[in-house]
Amino acid sequence: MDTEFRGLPSVDKLLSTGPVKQLLEDYPHDLVVDLVRQRLQQIRQLLAGGKPRPAFEEIVESIVAQAAALGTPSLRPVINATGVILHTNLGRAPLSGEAIAAMAAAARGYCNLEFDLASGTRGSRNSHVESLLCQLTGAEAALVVNNNAAAVLLALMALAKKKEVIVSRGQAVEIGGGFRIPDVMRQSGAKLVEVGTTNSTYIADYEQAISPKTAALLRVHSSNFKVVGFTHSVTIEEMVTLAEQHGLPVFDDIGSGCLLDVTRFGLDPEPMVQQSVAAGVALTLFSGDKLLGGPQAGIIVGRKELVDRLKKHPLARAIRIDKLDLAGLAATLIHYLKGEALSKVPVWRMISAPLDEIDRRAKRWAESLGGLARVEDGETMIGGGSLPGGTLPTRLVAIGGGKVQALSEKLRHRQIPVIGRISGTTLLLDPRSVLNEEDDIMLQALHEVAAGLKSP
Ligand SMILES: *Cc1c(COP(=O)(O)O)cnc(C)c1O
Repeated sequence: MDTEFRGLPSVDKLLSTGPVKQLLEDYPHDLVVDLVRQRLQQIRQLLAGGKPRPAFEEIVESIVAQAAALGTPSLRPVINATGVILHTNLGRAPLSGEAIAAMAAAARGYCNLEFDLASGTRGSRNSHVESLLCQLTGAEAALVVNNNAAAVLLALMALAKKKEVIVSRGQAVEIGGGFRIPDVMRQSGAKLVEVGTTNSTYIADYEQAISPKTAALLRVHSSNFKVVGFTHSVTIEEMVTLAEQHGLPVFDDIGSGCLLDVTRFGLDPEPMVQQSVAAGVALTLFSGDKLLGGPQAGIIVGRKELVDRLKKHPLARAIRIDKLDLAGLAATLIHYLKGEALSKVPVWRMISAPLDEIDRRAKRWAESLGGLARVEDGETMIGGGSLPGGTLPTRLVAIGGGKVQALSEKLRHRQIPVIGRISGTTLLLDPRSVLNEEDDIMLQALHEVAAGLKSP
């Protein structure tokens, strides 16, 4: 074993070897020395564990690879051909051209983020979206924070700390990504009072739970699952009527922030922000990057007196939205204001794309795979914790046979990775979740990958 250790190259030897020496052109000397030392240290540990010593060339290669890995952003664009439109792991909503331009403009230089240009004095970042949100939803006031999980935490902490919040047992759920209503409630200092059963809750259940300690009634949209069969739930209108009799507010965490009616696309109804406000809900909370189709944000709309209290709470400062998301959100909301959301907001373009257009794209994709694929009927999911029971008809490019794993790996390892979904032994690619303007990249990718598979 001693000879194994002694056989290790020196730091100087490695630094003077072609590819490592080349690294010194692109990276500071100290960094390259660090990488060399770290690699040698890792190898010494391997040797101590009885592993064989890697060849000199391998050591050199691994150092170069490590430098490349550190020096290239690992977060990069991918093409989402999974058929899940709001794919949380793939970054949820793609943004409109206008939203992207607004974010780039805000990023490039300074902006009037908290500066009132009319008076030349300090302004509020919230003012850039508040009137838009009020106009679109019918609410008196609005506040935007970092994300919806933070919005829910803020509402509970500011308005229900040390008091009780009544939630239907069927809604005390985990939304995904670790957002669990009972945990958020505990963190906020509010006490969760669960009523009803997993499958059915009646208005009388809420009524019996109201006490002098009650701060609010909370509805949580069970956005990522569906209870079917023998169920009963209480409507938001019933909740508001009961709450008002007791002088209490209703908070409504509707999740996806839908402003348009999805039923016209054959989907199950999704709670809409305007409906919640019209029903008399005190605070409606939702995400910016789900069905709203904007950047990450948590949006709270509702009664001015309550929203004002949230604005003043110290937590609001800790979870404030950043200027880039704010710029993108305002641009996205303006699409709704102008009535152009269906044609401008990518999420809605995908949802509203006619089946024959999807079919045409699927056929072109299949052609570039040169006989490896067929086009078949399928379903696109909305995803992102919305519309658990709703899917849209689509046309899928299906690639079967024994090459599925190799193919999906090849697609994933491209400069712009293409992510599909595997069902059994078939790789499925859904044009509905791919932006039209990505079709050229897609065709090129499929063409190259198919050529690669055919050649031995
Ligand atoms: C997605 C979701 C959340 C969390 O929203 P983020 O913006 O991801 O923080 C909270 N509540 C419901 C009902 C949701 O669907």
